[in-house]
Amino acid sequence: MEKRTKKNIAVFLDRDGTIIRERHYLRKVKDIRILSGTVESLSLLRKAGYKLILVTNQSGIGRGYLTKKKLALIHTHLKKLLKKKGVYLDALYYCPHAPGDNCSCRKPKLGMVKLAQKRLNIDLKKSFTIGDHVNDFLLGQNMGGTGIFLLTGHGKEELEKINSSGGRLKPDRIEQNLLAAAKWILGQKKK
Ligand SMILES: [Zn+2]
Repeated sequence: MEKRTKKNIAVFLDRDGTIIRERHYLRKVKDIRILSGTVESLSLLRKAGYKLILVTNQSGIGRGYLTKKKLALIHTHLKKLLKKKGVYLDALYYCPHAPGDNCSCRKPKLGMVKLAQKRLNIDLKKSFTIGDHVNDFLLGQNMGGTGIFLLTGHGKEELEKINSSGGRLKPDRIEQNLLAAAKWILGQKKK
């Protein structure tokens, strides 16, 4: 009985600079490059029972650089590329708004995470976020979970923000890349 009602634990993944190569407002399907280590990371986490959920801020839409239609093509292609390698995501959410729109879904706000929580019965406090922006680990902390910060993508620039915040910004964990983060999560499970 216990098992049946057990909630899922998720790893909320950022897109650009985390699972694919960072590119300023990625607009073309052909520019998608899956980072080395992504496939192994996703497959390790999946095997360990984690739900894999992509959450991405796509303000390029709100700013008029990208249409929802184009973004849908990009995401369809991304899923196809992952599938070819034998991995897949349980869900994918994006925030289309510009920072000034004051929406409730732009990371580190909880809109996207809450949608996933309902749909996939997720225990947010036991879940993780992984990304190369301050907003990614803040998301993890805002949901009461664990926010892992990566040094890939914009990580190096974002690290400066962290270091100059006087201790105000504090990732729960800093890792070199997604694979290191995935392995750290798996290590937590054994404890
Ligand atoms: Zn939004």
